[in-house]
Amino acid sequence: MSDQLGFSTRAVHAGFDPDLQTGAVNVPIYASSTFAQDGVGGMRGGYEYARTGNPTRAALEANLAALESGTYGRAFASGMAATDCAIRANLRPGDHMVIPNDAYGGTFRLIDKVFTQWGIEYSVAPVSDADAVAAAMRPNTKLVWVETPTNPLLNVGDIAALAEVAHAGGAKLVVDNTFASPYLQQPLLLGADIALHSTTKYLGGHSDVVGGALITNDQEMDAKFAFLQNGAGAVPGPMDAFLTLRGIKTLALRMDRHCDNAETISEFLANHPKIAQVIYPGLPEHPGHTVAQKQMRRFGGMISVRVHGGKDAALAFCAKTKIFTLAESLGGVESLIEHPGAMTHASTAGSALEVPADLVRLSVGIEDISDLLSDIEQALA
Ligand SMILES: *Cc1c(COP(=O)(O)O)cnc(C)c1O
Repeated sequence: MSDQLGFSTRAVHAGFDPDLQTGAVNVPIYASSTFAQDGVGGMRGGYEYARTGNPTRAALEANLAALESGTYGRAFASGMAATDCAIRANLRPGDHMVIPNDAYGGTFRLIDKVFTQWGIEYSVAPVSDADAVAAAMRPNTKLVWVETPTNPLLNVGDIAALAEVAHAGGAKLVVDNTFASPYLQQPLLLGADIALHSTTKYLGGHSDVVGGALITNDQEMDAKFAFLQNGAGAVPGPMDAFLTLRGIKTLALRMDRHCDNAETISEFLANHPKIAQVIYPGLPEHPGHTVAQKQMRRFGGMISVRVHGGKDAALAFCAKTKIFTLAESLGGVESLIEHPGAMTHASTAGSALEVPADLVRLSVGIEDISDLLSDIEQALA
């Protein structure tokens, strides 16, 4: 579907037209691992075996491509499976990649614990400083890996500037767009080569399915992703693909509410005496505010705070909220709170990526703002 159409129109319609036989307006959950052939090699609808391709997954993949204004979309069993595929499609032993100095803990763990065993080298650099990223590149750098905003410190990288830096050094730019979602930011339009998602988060949006995605305009790159989907097999099942598509239809509505609530909460926290620092790209004092304004529609639903009183105060805040549920993950309709140092980012302990002990991360949901504010107020009292 053409990207002349508006974002929400694409979110609702891209990837599937009403079924010719039944008129069903939603793609069926094709619970079939294999597809009958009319004679050897005579595939009826382009499908032979569901690891290679499944119609429900194909509808999701076409939808994901349309959301990112990209040409090709590929769905994976998780965000980490997508990460694994993006790295293996681009790096060989002896190659090097640059990663954020505050990368998602799981991304760091995969690269540091698994890929280094296979001869892949990495350096860390702050995504907010394109010159530092350029300085971290080497002649054998094949990928520059960026999250923006980053998880959990919400640093903002200038995607267009980082694309120039990566390309000048002969590398590809991957943007993990999980925190922004394609509604708020579209990396391919800013020069990135690959947009990556944990669809588990805002795209699925209801904390009921795990998945990942890679979107690109590069046909050769997409062919490598398709080869690895089939060859390594980390694909989502049809029920997961259906749930993710169902979530995507309301992405724009949900994101606007996430942003409304997060803007109000960030201002409330910025004036709270128990809070030492509020990290939210929508606040004018955030160092990445101007870049975020330039490349994002709004500033997202994630807020991190540093609490006066160190780790104990941070843990107490997490323990006392009632509507904000203490849990890992983010991007669902329900508000969540967590302590990155002990939870999502525990794997960074002792490394250059270690997060502050007084840090608390909020995934602001779509509940009534008055209830969310009262909950935070009583938890900090
Ligand atoms: C959650 C997350 C991932 C990993 O995705 P899974 O679906 O949990 O495998 C990758 N990047 C970011 C920024 C994330 O928040």
